[in-house]
Amino acid sequence: MTDRQGDTAYPEIRTAVRDICARFGDPYWREQDRLRRYPSEFVDALTSAGWLAALIPERYGGSGLGVAEASVVLEEIQRQGGNAAACHAQMYVMGTLLRHGSEEQKQRYLPDIASGKLRLQAFGVTEPTAGSETTRIQTSAVRKGDRYVVNGQKIWTSRFEQSDLMLLLARTTPYDELEDKTKGLSVFVVDLRTAGDHIEARPIQAMVNHSTNEVFIRDLEVPAGDRIGEEGMGFRYIIDGWNAERILIAAECVGDARWFIDRAAAYAKARVVFGRPIGQNQGVQFPIAKAHTATEAADLMRWKAARLFDAGDPCGPEANMAKYLASEASWEAANVCLDTHGGFGFAAEYDVERKFRETRLYKVAPINNNLVLAYVAQHVLGLPKSY
Ligand SMILES: Cc1cc2nc3c(=O)[nH]c(=O)nc-3n(C[C@H](O)[C@H](O)[C@H](O)COP(=O)(O)OP(=O)(O)OC[C@H]3O[C@@H](n4cnc5c(N)ncnc54)[C@H](O)[C@@H]3O)c2cc1C
Repeated sequence: MTDRQGDTAYPEIRTAVRDICARFGDPYWREQDRLRRYPSEFVDALTSAGWLAALIPERYGGSGLGVAEASVVLEEIQRQGGNAAACHAQMYVMGTLLRHGSEEQKQRYLPDIASGKLRLQAFGVTEPTAGSETTRIQTSAVRKGDRYVVNGQKIWTSRFEQSDLMLLLARTTPYDELEDKTKGLSVFVVDLRTAGDHIEARPIQAMVNHSTNEVFIRDLEVPAGDRIGEEGMGFRYIIDGWNAERILIAAECVGDARWFIDRAAAYAKARVVFGRPIGQNQGVQFPIAKAHTATEAADLMRWKAARLFDAGDPCGPEANMAKYLASEASWEAANVCLDTHGGFGFAAEYDVERKFRETRLYKVAPINNNLVLAYVAQHVLGLPKSY
């Protein structure tokens, strides 16, 4: 029987993704990082092989796979030293369209997203003044007949310049007029190809190569037919996508952690100091063993969450805990790998410092680990809401 969890689960998917990754080795990723360049060739290769359409149902041209399988795709990219951040959002962003879009919207967008003709990589939620408090966003969408006029500012909108469509969260009812503060926000599919100078993106120079931007929106007209679902229910729709997002990010972190552990163990065996391999010292090998142990534990929670999700069962606690455990495990593994490499860990040609920076992001985004702990405290342990 095929093992349905662990790093041997879904061997066919792993082999196929590894074959693609083999065409984009360490020098490729190092160069993208150095130039702060979007890895278009890699994303194109994944798209044409159909992997970015893993979660799109077959009737809309995708493969109709579950989150478990999709998570393996992202895990393998990270494990092979790549950076799935260039394209991971398309997997979970389109879930909002799939779950809450009308049949007409799904027919209009999903087949072209599945084939790669349309890129839905951008997700405009975070704003400079709202941060983690999403219900405080100020970008407004005011209804005028059959359209909405949008004005506001987003920050950290990643892959904006590599997207044809952007999913946008905007306020359709002023905050002060709401009794239930989780209402009053709506989600739109914004066609960036026709937005002209009503949207301006300014790239943010960041610690990681992430194609991320500040986005300024001025008098942008969005047809009412491009609103997803009901007006005012956007926050709920976004929350519905969070579990899939958490599980996919957890899998990426597990892939990163395994990359760090593989590299650390290999280097610890090969590097000889004081006449013996450094990995013979417990001070070197125990931290690697600890990081491996933490990674395997996090991976169990990732599989538990993925199984529940794919069965249609509630999985909020498991998805959140998986994201927390995996991002902490990958960060631990990153530090151990850097320590094991000594000074060479800082040399770009070893790729450790690049992956070290890349994996650090996942303690902060798409959701900060403090907010994950606040969720567990409140929703699992019944402690008072802390924010
Ligand atoms: C490279 C990158 C790419 C990103 N891509 C996207 C994207 O494509 N689309 C998008 O919409 N957003 C994106 N983001 C934004 C990301 O989701 C946010 O940065 C993240 O959610 C945290 O929000 P913040 O930065 O405003 O931090 P803040 O909310 O300002 O929080 C700052 C610190 O305070 C802590 N904190 C705040 N409130 C509490 C509390 N009640 N209890 C405990 N601690 C608290 C936080 O945990 C954090 O440590 C990206 C961010 C980065 C860095």
